Amino acid sequence: MMTEEEKIILRDNIARVKERAAEAAIRAGRKPEEIALVAATKMNSTERIRFATENGIAICGENRVQELLDKYEQQAYGSADLQFIGTLQTNKVKYLIGKVSMIQSVGSLRLGEVIAKEAAKHGIVQDILLEVNIGGEASKSGVAPNQFWPLLDAAAAQPHIRVRGLMAIPPVNDNDKLNRAYLAAVRQLFLRAGECGYANVAMEVLSMGMSGDYENAIREGATLVRIGTAIYGERDYGLKTM
Ligand SMILES: *Cc1c(COP(=O)(O)O)cnc(C)c1O
Repeated sequence: MMTEEEKIILRDNIARVKERAAEAAIRAGRKPEEIALVAATKMNSTERIRFATENGIAICGENRVQELLDKYEQQAYGSADLQFIGTLQTNKVKYLIGKVSMIQSVGSLRLGEVIAKEAAKHGIVQDILLEVNIGGEASKSGVAPNQFWPLLDAAAAQPHIRVRGLMAIPPVNDNDKLNRAYLAAVRQLFLRAGECGYANVAMEVLSMGMSGDYENAIREGATLVRIGTAIYGERDYGLKTM
């Protein structure tokens, strides 16, 4: 059970993130309502996730399929919109279709094809984002920038997926300038992709920015930020929190 103090902290964190995001938007000459806030829920209990949805969180992002299924069954996400943001194996796609409004993390044609096939079985068109590995890091998923155009081209040809934008996790670093350069590079791809005129592609969502860099991301054009730690606090990887 959450203590009263934990509830106060969680509520405060949500308010603070929203305020800082709104301020970053205004500083960039943008409107606060242009930026969607996704709470990254991994490792958090059903109670904490639900409490957040009752206190200002309208979109939850989950990044492990099993965790999502367990919490989904426990109705952790309440009436919030649910999106998938993590690395996704093709054999698990079938569990997500019908449950998530968006799969943010599509970095290969194979994954896009499997999503399209499962969506077709459900008679739906699944919204996706293409994940770009903007730093070209071996440890990260996402398509390499030089493979991005063929992937977009192929994804656009699949009738049961709709590419709604891009997602990226830039390399972790303390160099503010470098961080912004990566974020700006993602935005350039986003803008250029939007000019391609594919019928099945609408470049509307630019998902970048986490607890450490969401203000930079908003400055560089993000329309959606994914925040875990700054909302829920540090994750304890040693504990099973379910
Ligand atoms: C955990 C996670 C986040 C949030 O990370 P924080 O640094 O805790 O804000 C964002 N995006 C993805 C894909 C994640 O897995």
